[in-house]
Amino acid sequence: MKRVVLKKATEKFVHSFHPWIYQQAIKNADPNIEPGEIVYITNSNNQFIAYGFYNPHSAIALRILELHESNIPDEAWFYKKIAEAISRRKNILSSATNSCRLVFGESDFLPGLIVDKYADFLVIQIHTAGVERFKQHIINYLTELSKPTDIIEKNDSDIRTLEQLTITESHTHGKKIPESFIITENTLRYKIFLGQKTGFYCDQRENRKAVSTFSSGKKVLDCFSYTGSFALHCLKNKAQHVLRIDSSKDALAIGDENIKLNGFSLENSPSLVGNAFEVLRKFRDENKRFDMIILDPPKLASRKQEKDKALRAYKDINLLAIKLLNTDGILATFSCSGGVNREDFRMALAWAAKDAERKMSIIQTLGQPEDHPINIYFPESEYLKGFICRVL
Ligand code: SAH
Repeated sequence: MKRVVLKKATEKFVHSFHPWIYQQAIKNADPNIEPGEIVYITNSNNQFIAYGFYNPHSAIALRILELHESNIPDEAWFYKKIAEAISRRKNILSSATNSCRLVFGESDFLPGLIVDKYADFLVIQIHTAGVERFKQHIINYLTELSKPTDIIEKNDSDIRTLEQLTITESHTHGKKIPESFIITENTLRYKIFLGQKTGFYCDQRENRKAVSTFSSGKKVLDCFSYTGSFALHCLKNKAQHVLRIDSSKDALAIGDENIKLNGFSLENSPSLVGNAFEVLRKFRDENKRFDMIILDPPKLASRKQEKDKALRAYKDINLLAIKLLNTDGILATFSCSGGVNREDFRMALAWAAKDAERKMSIIQTLGQPEDHPINIYFPESEYLKGFICRVL
């Protein structure tokens, strides 16, 4: 196995167990290491530190796989890591829920590999050259361990370009996926269109349940509704009315189908296509009021550099929502921006409540479910933050 030697000053970072090592930390590397090859990483005294994927083209030069010298990351090692990740999810999958994330990259000790299960189909995303080299083995192991009808590759993320991997269209192995099919989550049914990228966000599974417990008898506004998952959970919990807003007409149309599929009526849950920032401003000017508002916007900052702009947007949208709430109203608000941490987000909410001149308390703190674990040594794996607040 080829070797990579770290500079003395940077060796200690590996002992913090963070799974990434940047180019600047490398003293020297054997010649002709292929991008994604597994290497033997040593300190400046040539003592073993870890095994990892090496990519000379990426700013993140090394991705740590294994810290024990006797556990060489070979095919059996990958098989075991995948089998363990799947086994850790066995409490999630049941007759009520047949979809979840099976492998979550660094949080499952497989840097650059994401595997999602949607009913009998698996979707894999490969973000690193290292995982790309093992792709065929990984597909074989997933086929054996999870027995899917098919595995779909979705290698269209921009992250691949950072590793000098090509962006590929999703394509299938084995049987062709149907245009749409039904998945279940918390006993509710959803139509998904994998081929057209209209998937499903499994990471909000527990939060949908938690938020909906406050919705009974309420007039609810579900902003950034996508295909209606929060709305459906609220309807199941006997919300009186749930208005769904999203900028995507197509997502709302699938949401309409989902409402009917679960036996609810569109009269109780109509949809409105629009920019949530503008629609909420208009509602404010029209003096509209709601008992509960859900805000689940898309990622507003993936990097720390975008933080300030994102915080202003979080403040704006939450300020508008707070103003639209009746006394004793419930605000369920989320941020999935990796570049904004929980404290920052909470601060933006405090600014919003203050500007709205309303009293507000956090009554529940929400995060990621069991299938999106946060690797304690890898803060980057914590991205989803949520608060349920009571607004007086
Ligand atoms: N709440 C959803 C997921 C939301 S994903 C769920 O639990 O499944 C974010 C959604 O925000 C997407 O559907 C996207 O179409 C929508 N969106 C993005 N920008 C928007 C905007 N300015 N106004 C309204 N919707 C927007």
